[in-house]
Amino acid sequence: VKQVGGASHAFYTPALAVDQREQAELLQALRHAVQRGELQLVYQPKVDARNLQITAAEALLRWQHPQRGTISPVVFIPLAERHGLINGIGRWVIEEACRQAAQWRQQGMRMRVAVNLSGHQLRQDDLVPHIQACLKRHKIPAERLTVEITESVAMDDTAHTRAAFERLRKAGLHVSIDDFGTGHSSLATLRRLPAAELKIDRAFITDLGHSERARSIVQAVVQMARTLELRVVAEGVETTAQRDVLVGLGCNELQGYLFAKPMSATALALWADTDEPP
Ligand code: C2E
Ligand code: CA
Ligand code: CA
Ligand code: CA
Repeated sequence: VKQVGGASHAFYTPALAVDQREQAELLQALRHAVQRGELQLVYQPKVDARNLQITAAEALLRWQHPQRGTISPVVFIPLAERHGLINGIGRWVIEEACRQAAQWRQQGMRMRVAVNLSGHQLRQDDLVPHIQACLKRHKIPAERLTVEITESVAMDDTAHTRAAFERLRKAGLHVSIDDFGTGHSSLATLRRLPAAELKIDRAFITDLGHSERARSIVQAVVQMARTLELRVVAEGVETTAQRDVLVGLGCNELQGYLFAKPMSATALALWADTDEPP
């Protein structure tokens, strides 16, 4: 069903039919991948802006399709959300990230591990008990796990979302508001949320270094975060010019290709060990 010029008459085109068949095939393949345990996590470091030491590793989902190669989470996560697969996948992500965190701790690495949560997961009553069970099983302190929740999900100011945030806070988890700047935060809602960090969306970072306007926006976010006693993380840092502006503005943590791309858990352990700052 397509919307044309605001009118809501539905029509079907051959192209659309192909599209739908492709979607159905992709969904079927995703179901199989989930059942066979073919999804993987890669990890991207966040570094301390002052000394560039690793502070956290964000877990990011990867799906290696046997024929199509790597399929982006931007494609398969919305699909999983539409078809009721996201909760199962999300539970696995939490379990696997905790298992990995425990292994890293045994190797002497004590950084936080961050997982992305879908809005659908927040609506599950057993989300926090599941997280707590995983933490307990792998002996990870709650504050070592960051849950990244996008601003648009976080700002959905319903009783349900508020209750979910309250349970996350009570459990002692580290909450990060992801993709900050893309939603419609009100200062009032932001103040009420028990978050520990704001993660500025890549769109704002991209223009840093050559745009005075982008710089002002990031500066305003950093100042507001300070007032609210939140840490600020910048995502998508790709150039030394962007890094220098962010450090100058007092951003706390940095993440992006300039430092490291997402990589396997093994590669990350080596990277953390031998890292040379750019
Ligand atoms: P996100 O949480 O905002 O993650 C950041 C995305 O930017 C990642 O893409 C990362 O690989 C990419 N990135 C990191 N640094 C740079 C950089 O310097 N330049 C550029 N151009 N890109 C950079 P990825 O891994 O494809 O993930 C895309 C999105 O998929 C994530 O955005 C997140 O919303 C979602 N996602 C990934 N894994 C999960 C998951 O386990 N659960 C849920 N619910 N969503 C996930
Ligand atoms: Ca994220
Ligand atoms: Ca993000
Ligand atoms: Ca983003």
